[in-house]
Amino acid sequence: MAALVDGFGRVHTDLRVSLTDKCNLRCTYCMPPEGLDWMPADTVLTDDEVVRVIGIAVRELGIRDVRLTGGEPLLRRGLVDIVRRLAALDPRPRLALTTNGIGLARVVGDLAAAGLDRINVSLDTMHRETFVALSRRDRLDEVLAGLDAARAAGVAPVKVNTVLMRGINDGEALELLDYCLAHELQLRFIEQMPLDAQHGWDRDLMVTAEEIVAMLSARHTLTPVGGRGSDPAELFRIDDGPAVVGVIASVTKPFCAACDRVRLTADGQVRNCLFATEESDLRTPLRAGADDAFIAARIREAIGRKRAGHGIDDPAFLQPIRPMSAIGG
Ligand code: SAM
Ligand code: SF4
Repeated sequence: MAALVDGFGRVHTDLRVSLTDKCNLRCTYCMPPEGLDWMPADTVLTDDEVVRVIGIAVRELGIRDVRLTGGEPLLRRGLVDIVRRLAALDPRPRLALTTNGIGLARVVGDLAAAGLDRINVSLDTMHRETFVALSRRDRLDEVLAGLDAARAAGVAPVKVNTVLMRGINDGEALELLDYCLAHELQLRFIEQMPLDAQHGWDRDLMVTAEEIVAMLSARHTLTPVGGRGSDPAELFRIDDGPAVVGVIASVTKPFCAACDRVRLTADGQVRNCLFATEESDLRTPLRAGADDAFIAARIREAIGRKRAGHGIDDPAFLQPIRPMSAIGG
């Protein structure tokens, strides 16, 4: 099996699969209040199609990590069964889920039993009013219940993804860290990226990685762990460890040179970058009877066209037409 290598020698081993573009929250940095026009149901890959593409990716292209995301992947009806089928693939990929946590408490035991290895839960605030302001829904308690249940189900590690926004939740960095330390959760702060459907991203509202490290350092000693490989998070040991916190500086310190990711949208398009402006269609050939070799070749071609970097700081930068919820974060 030949590795999935692009024109810059980057080897791709991590496939992110969006299972739906639908969501039950409306995070301001992701979606407009009214939501979006969801993808027509018949354009969304079926469970069989999703499992087939991932099978091709692990057998023919060297994909080792698969992350299920969205939209909100817990809204996908067949999720537990998809996880069970992915865990039965040979070679077996490591299986991760990124979720907003709503409904996780009910299903995480089944997901763990089906073979899910890791979970990231998004949590931007510990305060109900701020949660409502940020996500336009009053559902913080369900997210916290989901986090508790994930730990109780033995999924490890459980990570927490946090996006800080100036004047909204940026005063909560230490409180979120305290919560995660007390609950054995690994916290990762993510710089806000220009991927919202309403194109409202404003660099001045983005809280930078440097600012985040400074805020945390006010109360803790942060020691860089180093050796991060293709992990987008720069990890810091907190007060000599063992706990760590991650900071993902997607905008101010892009990690494109070490990127090992490829994405599949819920409607069957391969994207070689979150910020790609082109996609490669897998759905049409999948439904026209294409064989595995053809699908693998199309994914290889898509990776062959990958650019060196996302270019957010380039004056000619164009935000992708699809928002984060449709690409899969
Ligand atoms: N709905 C799930 C969730 O919220 O975890 C999965 C999909 S969501 C698009 C994946 C991750 O992307 C979340 O952690 C979310 O906070 C993050 N995200 C969404 N929009 C973002 C943006 N504009 N900048 C940075 N991160 C963003
Ligand atoms: Fe939904 Fe996740 Fe986007 Fe929030 S970040 S609106 S939870 S897809």
